[in-house]
Amino acid sequence: MKKMFMNGEWVAACSGETREIINPYNQEVIATVAEGNEKDATLAIAAAREAFDHGEWSHWPARDRGKKVHDIATLIERDREELAELESLDTGKTVEESRVDMDDIAGVFHYFAEMADKDGGEIIASPIPNATSRVVHEPVGVCGQITPWNYPLLQASWKLAPALAAGNTLVMKPSEITPLTSVKVFELMEEAGVPAGVVNLVLGSGNSVGAKLSASDDVDLISFTGGIETGKRIMQAASSNVKNLALELGGKNPNIIFADADFDTAVDQAMNAVFFHAGQICSAGTRLIVEESMHDDFVRELVKRVKNIKLGSGFDEATQMGPLISKEHLAKVVDYVENGKKEGATVAVGGEKPDDPELQHGFFYLPTVLTNCTTDMSVVQDEGFGPVITVETFATEEEAIHLANDSIYGLAGGVFTNDIAKAQRCVVKMRMGTVWINDVNLYFPQAPWGGFKQSGIGRELGKTGLEEYQETKHIFRNLKPEPANWF
Ligand code: NAD
Repeated sequence: MKKMFMNGEWVAACSGETREIINPYNQEVIATVAEGNEKDATLAIAAAREAFDHGEWSHWPARDRGKKVHDIATLIERDREELAELESLDTGKTVEESRVDMDDIAGVFHYFAEMADKDGGEIIASPIPNATSRVVHEPVGVCGQITPWNYPLLQASWKLAPALAAGNTLVMKPSEITPLTSVKVFELMEEAGVPAGVVNLVLGSGNSVGAKLSASDDVDLISFTGGIETGKRIMQAASSNVKNLALELGGKNPNIIFADADFDTAVDQAMNAVFFHAGQICSAGTRLIVEESMHDDFVRELVKRVKNIKLGSGFDEATQMGPLISKEHLAKVVDYVENGKKEGATVAVGGEKPDDPELQHGFFYLPTVLTNCTTDMSVVQDEGFGPVITVETFATEEEAIHLANDSIYGLAGGVFTNDIAKAQRCVVKMRMGTVWINDVNLYFPQAPWGGFKQSGIGRELGKTGLEEYQETKHIFRNLKPEPANWF
């Protein structure tokens, strides 16, 4: 039975309600957790408010806060294997992928820990004589943080580490489907000695706990990662007290493959782009935009390799792709592909659930390639969030760029070519927060992450990832006070 963490205590839900967490590989119950509601959220917000308004945390020397954040990273490294196994149990992804996640997560905490005391403010040239002007950064206050189920702890780390380094207090609500590693990291933050009330964890559904966090006048900033429709609701709710807002939403990410690209690399990366974690990645490269002259060779090789992808338990070393997260999500992916077929897409491989008897207890869908796709199809426009890739073709560079940009999303994209001038021409015109040349899905703490267009507002990671959790203050000092005599 996993509880919630508020004001330094582990507590059950006020209502006494609980929720069962299941393993998407076999539907076994792996944990029971407290199921909080608005009342629990209110208590957690009050704890964070009190800790910010009357506690010492935001006034600690930045260096000491940084040290605490380093300590959390070190504990994550100590418990890497346990955390990785927990993440795989909860999400179905392979343990090897989860291990990589845990290394990234520790890296994120170390990165923001290092940044904590690097910002000493800035003296600016004042146009006023006998005066100095200084710009300093201060914590925003109480932060509400809402995370999705696909990268539960990774997404949490992108919010927790900078919020703490900057001196905020916070209330986190992880996805109700995958809360286990978040609970564990709160145990580690307690062990690291983060003061009571600074970090608070409320478990429960989006419509109750998430909505309360978004609407509360006692919350100063809401940072959300999740779907676009939820993001819009949160944005509306956050307007109640004009909260600071950071939104990391969905993506429908194109990969442009030119005929002069390294063929084997392009095929391999086209698969990496979309079949990691069964395509349940915001930056999954779900739209292949392939130069006409190489389309047939490319698709032939892609299909050949996709047929060999091994589905199974994330705990089996031979497994390359796990299940989808839930029964509901599997049903959505099934519908999404059926719609694509109706609209005229051709299933080159996959396009259904596997018939392997060993996979019938889990939420599996076959890795799928859809060809003959056009930009007006829903499979090309909508974020499917499954192991499904669509293939479109182009004849000219302009057409490739036009197709890549023809989306409400603008999270990430890729260009594969050996002509660097051509790659450069493409990337300056691609309207996305991240563009990879001859690679896919790379992110690291030093580089900002976020979307253009409806993929979001703001940037996590990098310098901007810390700035999201800071207010900027201008301090003007008159060195020669005297009456101005205007009146
Ligand atoms: P979701 O929007 O359904 O849920 C995300 C979180 O929001 C959950 O914790 C949920 O409980 C909460 N929530 C739901 N309704 C809410 C409400 N009314 N008010 C407040 N909170 C509410 O998303 P999901 O299905 O968990 O995650 C998948 C989505 O996340 C995809 O669209 C994916 O692209 C996106 N995502 C984006 C990034 C990024 O960096 N841009 C990263 C990971 C995932």
